[in-house]
Amino acid sequence: MIGLRKPAVFLANLDTNGAVTAKKAAIDSWLDGGREGKTPSFPEYWNRDDVRGALIAQQGLICAWCSCALKLKSSETTVEHYRPKDYKKPDEARAVQGDPHKGYPWLAYTWENLLMVCGECNQLKGSFFPLQEEDQRVDENSRDQLSRERPLILDPLRDSVEGALKLTFSKEDDEKYPRCYAKAAKTPLFSCAEETIKRIRLNGDGRPDLITQRTMVVGDLWKNLEEGKKKEEACSQAACRYKEHAWAAREILKGHAPHLLPEPEDDLGFLLRTLGDTLSVYEGDLNHYLKKDPSPEGKQKTRENYCTET
Ligand SMILES: [Zn+2]
Repeated sequence: MIGLRKPAVFLANLDTNGAVTAKKAAIDSWLDGGREGKTPSFPEYWNRDDVRGALIAQQGLICAWCSCALKLKSSETTVEHYRPKDYKKPDEARAVQGDPHKGYPWLAYTWENLLMVCGECNQLKGSFFPLQEEDQRVDENSRDQLSRERPLILDPLRDSVEGALKLTFSKEDDEKYPRCYAKAAKTPLFSCAEETIKRIRLNGDGRPDLITQRTMVVGDLWKNLEEGKKKEEACSQAACRYKEHAWAAREILKGHAPHLLPEPEDDLGFLLRTLGDTLSVYEGDLNHYLKKDPSPEGKQKTRENYCTET
């Protein structure tokens, strides 16, 4: 997990201003239904291309929770609500110790609340959202006081993630596994980091692929560090913010070769090169859009792929 920055963008598909939209109606319906014990659903505008594109600009093609690589068009790549929009099973959710919330439906279409994650992390996080002090929980009537909440799930957009997590090696089956731990006890984010590691299973409990991938990234980095000057660029690239498991590579470089840590502009350069490579795959789609095919079929395709519903 690594710290992220939200780009300032206007996304038509998330706009809930103006006339009553399907989004506004869904929020109102949830608030009404919640009171009546019903479970209304939300149209998934956060999965539209403009929103997904902005999320890629925010974090590259990397899961905001576990730092694994995401696939651009995969249904496994999902948009996550940091503060859950709802709770799927009211009785069960309420029974989870310290997590008795009723959802944050008014944040369902709020850009600041969205992250892009892998399917596994999405399942694990679910509607879980415990607070350090439950009596500070905000509801629809106090929605403008969100800053009073102290969540027990790290927020990669607002918390100092790199100050909260550390990399440690443990020996199991004669192999070294790079594991993730909460940094110093008694720091404000300690219990939050511990809860996040446990909930998202950042140490691979039932997620062997996650540990295998992290071990490979770390192993390659160690090898490259041993090779010295000729592999310095590869070492820096492994720690680029928009690369898989970069947080682990950064932890190692901080301790062993801090001069190889990439600068923010190196991070950005890496992101732009990755996006360029990815977009070239969709050149056909882009050309179709640019030509603005005037035939009824062309108009229909453009409408389906690129236009916003209101
Ligand atoms: Zn993940």
